[in-house]
Amino acid sequence: MVTTKDELYSELIALRDGLQAQVIEMESADEMDEPGTGYTNHQADDATAVFDQTANRSALQAARDRLRQVHDALARYEAGTYGICENCGREIDIARLEAIPYTPFCLRCAEQRDYIAGM
Ligand SMILES: [Zn+2]
Repeated sequence: MVTTKDELYSELIALRDGLQAQVIEMESADEMDEPGTGYTNHQADDATAVFDQTANRSALQAARDRLRQVHDALARYEAGTYGICENCGREIDIARLEAIPYTPFCLRCAEQRDYIAGM
């Protein structure tokens, strides 16, 4: 039983749809919190509300980033380069794609990038 790229493609589509719904939901929740709109779904006190908003914003940002990565992966699939490391051009291990279907890098390059980014 090996996961095929077709299966990973379906997974990416499902991921994209889920993330899109999540982003839309978080964006509308964010808009409702704008002062002056007259209603809010926060029942907590102000301090908690501020914390929630900050947490929502970073969750929204993370979901948007993830969505962009999924979009990029789908574009690579259509271009026929899905599963090929953008950095070194080698095939990305299928086990890695199963874990992170939208990753543009093989494990080695991802580790190297993390290392460089952390310096
Ligand atoms: Zn690589």
